[in-house]
Amino acid sequence: MPCFRPSQCPWTACPSRNLPSTFQYQKRGFYRTSKNRRIQRFWCKSCRRSFSSQSFKFNYRLRYPRLHLDFWPFLISKVTLRQSARMLKVDRRTLAARLWRMGEHAREFHRQRCREASALLKSGGVFQLDELETYETDRRLQPLTVSVLIHRYRYFVIHAAVGTLPCRGSLAPHLRKKKVEREKVFGKRRSESRKIVTETFQALKDLLSKDDCPVVQSDGKKTYPRIMKSVFGQHGFEHRVEPSKGPRNRNHPLFPINHTLAQMRDNISRLVRRNWGVSKRRQWLVPHLWLWILWRNYLRPIVAEGNPPTPGELVGASTGRLTAEDVFRWRIFSSRDLQ
Ligand SMILES: [Zn+2]
Repeated sequence: MPCFRPSQCPWTACPSRNLPSTFQYQKRGFYRTSKNRRIQRFWCKSCRRSFSSQSFKFNYRLRYPRLHLDFWPFLISKVTLRQSARMLKVDRRTLAARLWRMGEHAREFHRQRCREASALLKSGGVFQLDELETYETDRRLQPLTVSVLIHRYRYFVIHAAVGTLPCRGSLAPHLRKKKVEREKVFGKRRSESRKIVTETFQALKDLLSKDDCPVVQSDGKKTYPRIMKSVFGQHGFEHRVEPSKGPRNRNHPLFPINHTLAQMRDNISRLVRRNWGVSKRRQWLVPHLWLWILWRNYLRPIVAEGNPPTPGELVGASTGRLTAEDVFRWRIFSSRDLQ
């Protein structure tokens, strides 16, 4: 087994993080774990703090070091957080904290892999965008929209974002009363569709070079052309509006994105229509979505049968089919690191 070499200091406040030179450290012996495993200790020459190879593990200082691996299959199999907690025999709040940590990790993992794949992503530059409607707590009073952008041919999910939608019209009297009460506390609920679609296109733009002119297929929603102009510039994109009517089968031009959204509804408990597993607050939908994207891009083959490559392999973001153990082995260091 190759010996572990730290590429940077795990302490975020360390001055070595901002130095262009290579990371300077010393080896400082070993310690043994309760399972009698030898762990290498290191010493940072910049901040003079010690650390070990364990400091770089995803489960560093976690009380249940394998909980995320046990939780993982439930997350993508339409099992709710509460039911998962019952089955794993842990407190719901413990599991929620793990969901949050895993979601942050999934987003950073995807971001890093996308950067590596950017050259290949642009070579087949046709993308599809659509929005999926769901809700938090109340279907009529608190609807949500989720924008999703994928690579048309590779089924690679580039980005997803969650935003609010205004209350639905023609409410029953008791819901109208509730709406007025909610508005007194939280203010009027507005559409964030434009904001999240802009964020989604921006995520695509960040992957492309200046000369790239992406082709984007979508339905005929009137706000999309203006948003695309603001992100890509007047002539920096080609927009193909596809009719959203007609049979939604494999021959439909928007089949890849329709199929992706259908898969999300089938895999993510929070998105199943009219069920108890819906998100109580939209903040929790976000990490769950990132975990699903991780699964869709890097763990699940492009089609379920046989042994075809994953979307991540097809765009060059990964070299093989990954497992949950691969993905959650190492911490990903970002600006929001834990101290
Ligand atoms: Zn240091």
